[in-house]
Amino acid sequence: MPKGESNPTPPLSEPVAGATPRPGSGSSPRNAEAAESDPTSTQPQGSGVPRGGFIRQIVEQDVSDGRHGGRVITRFPPEPNGYLHIGHAKSICLNFGLPRDLADKVPAGVAVRCHLRFDDTNPIKEEQEYIDSIKEDVRWLGFDWGEHEYHASDYFDQLYEWALVLIRAGKAYVDDQDGETIRLTRGTLTSPGEASPYRQRSVEENLDLFERMRKGEFPDGSRVLRTKIDMASPNLNMRDPVIYRILHARHPRTGDKWCIYPMYDWAHGQSDWIEGVTHSICTLEFEAHRPLYDWFIEQLQAEGVQPPAAADRPRQYEFARLNLSHTIMSKRKLLELVRGGHVRGWDDPRMPTLCGLRRRGYTPEAIRNFCDTIGVTKYNAVTEVSLLEHCLRDDLNRRAPRVMGVLNPLKVVIENYPDGEVEHFDAVNNPEDPAAGTRKVPFSRVLYIEREDFMEDPPRKYFRLYPGNEVRLRYAYLVTATKVVKDEAGHITEIHCRYDPDSRGGNAPDGRKVKGTIHWVSAAHAIDAEVRLYDHLFKCADPDDVPEDGSFLDNLNPESLKVSHGCKVEPSLADAGPGHICQFERLGYFCIDPDTTPENLVVNRTCTLRDTWARIAGRKQGG
Ligand code: ATP
Ligand code: MG
Repeated sequence: MPKGESNPTPPLSEPVAGATPRPGSGSSPRNAEAAESDPTSTQPQGSGVPRGGFIRQIVEQDVSDGRHGGRVITRFPPEPNGYLHIGHAKSICLNFGLPRDLADKVPAGVAVRCHLRFDDTNPIKEEQEYIDSIKEDVRWLGFDWGEHEYHASDYFDQLYEWALVLIRAGKAYVDDQDGETIRLTRGTLTSPGEASPYRQRSVEENLDLFERMRKGEFPDGSRVLRTKIDMASPNLNMRDPVIYRILHARHPRTGDKWCIYPMYDWAHGQSDWIEGVTHSICTLEFEAHRPLYDWFIEQLQAEGVQPPAAADRPRQYEFARLNLSHTIMSKRKLLELVRGGHVRGWDDPRMPTLCGLRRRGYTPEAIRNFCDTIGVTKYNAVTEVSLLEHCLRDDLNRRAPRVMGVLNPLKVVIENYPDGEVEHFDAVNNPEDPAAGTRKVPFSRVLYIEREDFMEDPPRKYFRLYPGNEVRLRYAYLVTATKVVKDEAGHITEIHCRYDPDSRGGNAPDGRKVKGTIHWVSAAHAIDAEVRLYDHLFKCADPDDVPEDGSFLDNLNPESLKVSHGCKVEPSLADAGPGHICQFERLGYFCIDPDTTPENLVVNRTCTLRDTWARIAGRKQGG
């Protein structure tokens, strides 16, 4: 059982967490990010406009100052070496949300947009499968790059030309040292680096060697192109960084044209510049790369270079990346989970990938609202995964149609109900949305109820079914348990009840009080389902918290998936296809899995109704 689930299912008369208000501004102390922004603000739900925090202020100021000619061009630059995850969603919402939000604040005809740029500089790890999935996921989140899809590899020629510019200006040189030596001579935070013995090569020799690198005359790793900056710089990124390496590898887009590939720093900033990006927004770990980002452009400008699209140079801004408790976000580790068979694939519903969340039943609105709520700051913090779940429930509560489903069925026979008779009761599809209307639910003599809704010997304050007690079968009738049937081993196999024919619709004719209301499905009409119950993939908040010789895999939660066969759901789900989301009353939100076949309905539990975030937030408010 997942944590917090060991208690019996709450009867309907208890408050249901899906309806809890948004958390107050006093958030978990670990969640500095959420504390920074005010989650109680009246930001329109599902608008997809991230608040954008301090970055939005900068951009708005630039627009009103007429900087960059009023243009706002951002970019989302994934490396196609894995699937996008919830952390990327934060960056996507910011990069795409800002220009979308500012579109009506700039004069007509002035560019306001976000580019999708694949940072495809490492042909060894990159695959078309990832490119396709990234595009699908960005669109699913609700964003569109129009015609502005680019690839760093589009600029390989230009980047090569500009490398020649740096060489001719005496600002770049071919180094024959191997990677290990370069690393060792780079110095430390407290000691300067050592100049390479090749640093003083003549321009002619550098031009010749670089040209021969390009032509494929040298093996992988034998030479690199480095910029000549400052081996004593306090910023290690400025100690003659490598900008080209030799890699005899076929590139998915440029094929065998190149056997030298630009390094991230060289490719990234110049790609921004070429595309006319105005605000290059990235995560904090690139803060120390910003001087290099600026240095490259300044050197090229000093040599008279100016790409056609750029009115002026882009600026880099950094924000804190999203870290989520109980979650791994490193692409390398996510790949390890997939390759090692620890999950069923990139879209396993326990994965923090966007395709995994989608399969789990997350909506784009829920994710965008989450990104709105956490805000954009410069403080590195860990956000509670329960906040993400809260945003999910908040959205699903509004949109998910209610149905009745029984996860652990116990047969109930209504002794005094005529055999063969069927009645159809009106059931409310969504109490949050009157427009969703009602549906008919069939009722008959033999039903299934949740096994934990019956107790032979109940504790005090148990208001559900037990011998002699009367409960309401949701929408149908009041019933009283009269008999318990057991098998030879003493296990309860069925319950007999009597119903009050005058309580049609579940209302007591004499106004007598009936405390418990339970859900049910008619045995003859029920559909069998396989239900997959998920819990956090990792059993502790920080999966990387392991001893030195340990692995994050040691923290995998062995209980993260439980499969329940023989569940019973109401017949209205017969026509629902994969991706359909609903609430099983009292149990949680569920969605139909693509593994469903005509013979086997497979349902994922998206989340329970219990909102642990609301509890955390409530506690912090002294509630
Ligand atoms: P790596 O570079 O290690 O492969 P990455 O997660 O940085 O992994 P990218 O494809 O480079 O992957 O990321 C694309 C963009 O998404 C980058 O601008 C990056 O800063 C941003 N991003 C990645 N992870 C997060 C996160 N957890 N929170 C916010 N933004 C993120
Ligand atoms: Mg990256």
